[in-house]
Amino acid sequence: MYAIEYQQPKTLADAASMLASTGGRPLAGGQSLVAAMKLRLSQPGTLVDLSGIADLRGIRKDGERLVIGAMSRHAEIASSDVVKAAMPALASVAEGIGDRQVRNMGTIGGAVANNDPAADWPAAVVGTAATIRTNKRAIAADDFFKGMFETVLAADEIITAVDFPIMQRAAYAKFANPASRFALVGVFVAQSANGDVRVAVTGAAPSVFRAKAIEDALRQSFTPVAAKGVKMSTDGLNGDLHGSPAYRAHLIPVMASRAVAMIA
Ligand SMILES: Cc1cc2nc3c(=O)[nH]c(=O)nc-3n(C[C@H](O)[C@H](O)[C@H](O)COP(=O)(O)OP(=O)(O)OC[C@H]3O[C@@H](n4cnc5c(N)ncnc54)[C@H](O)[C@@H]3O)c2cc1C
Repeated sequence: MYAIEYQQPKTLADAASMLASTGGRPLAGGQSLVAAMKLRLSQPGTLVDLSGIADLRGIRKDGERLVIGAMSRHAEIASSDVVKAAMPALASVAEGIGDRQVRNMGTIGGAVANNDPAADWPAAVVGTAATIRTNKRAIAADDFFKGMFETVLAADEIITAVDFPIMQRAAYAKFANPASRFALVGVFVAQSANGDVRVAVTGAAPSVFRAKAIEDALRQSFTPVAAKGVKMSTDGLNGDLHGSPAYRAHLIPVMASRAVAMIA
């Protein structure tokens, strides 16, 4: 064991000043951070627990947007009537994460900040062109995710909410690792009110990305056949014991076509 300072601020301002003065890390659901600490992959001197900050909780519809507080647990999002009515695809993303314990502890803010290459929320965030709100600024999804476990967040910056524009139709299809439920490949497809289409892929590469060839095909014809007809390159795709780059390249249009089939 090694010693850790544990802080539990009640306000966002206190949390931000604790992070700035200690160089510590925010703690949300602990489902990724505590595991990384156990493995000594992460050794923060101070943990600043965000669970006591009321401003980080709550899910609300605000006109044509759905604003989900950073400390909303996956299980809360999966069962939220507001989410199910406004954008059921987001409830389905949350419902498909890990197991019951992970969903009861893990948060959307933690998942987005962590940017695990196989995590589900980054696909929904990029697929809907959401905005990540922090205590310092608002960041567009396309500018937020930088690389494997890397985002543009500063060390003392706290995600306060994820602000989703409500899509006309959206769906997420995941080919899950049967043990962890993380995505081997997950594809989020969304069409906005003005007809534009976005397709975001997780699990296949070091970080979430947009499959622009599939977006183009779906703009021509919003059908499963059009999505499935796109041939993806293996360039930059992950290969590991779970699947080769060629296998993942094959899965991307297949999962995109399944997502389209749910909503076409
Ligand atoms: C067995 C298992 C299975 C899983 N399966 C899946 C799956 O199928 N799909 C999936 O997407 N995920 C999966 N996960 C990950 C899970 O979704 C985690 O909840 C998530 O990755 C991290 O969220 P957390 O709230 O636990 O964050 P924590 O572990 O507390 O924090 C993660 C990181 O984010 C930072 N952070 C947390 N909150 C904020 C904030 N508000 N602002 C800034 N930084 C912040 C922390 O400092 C840390 O660096 C799984 C995890 C486990 C253990």
